[in-house]
Amino acid sequence: MSLEPKIKEAIANKKMICPTCKKPILKYDKYAETIDSVREGFNIDTVDSYGVRVTLICANEGCAWKERTEYPMEYVLEE
Ligand SMILES: [Zn+2]
Repeated sequence: MSLEPKIKEAIANKKMICPTCKKPILKYDKYAETIDSVREGFNIDTVDSYGVRVTLICANEGCAWKERTEYPMEYVLEE
């Protein structure tokens, strides 16, 4: 499941909020998905965890906030 369309939609709908200036985040960059496979124990148990890394960029005038995050959806305003 890719998060990228959700990030795009949240930004387009101005629902992703900059924690510094409280205005909508305008851009994102360097979206990447990560998959970690973990093998544990005698009986091989494969755990795949899917994550993302993305740089969120406020880009509002006078605000230099940007953040490389694994949890971009935490910046989305709840309905
Ligand atoms: Zn900002």
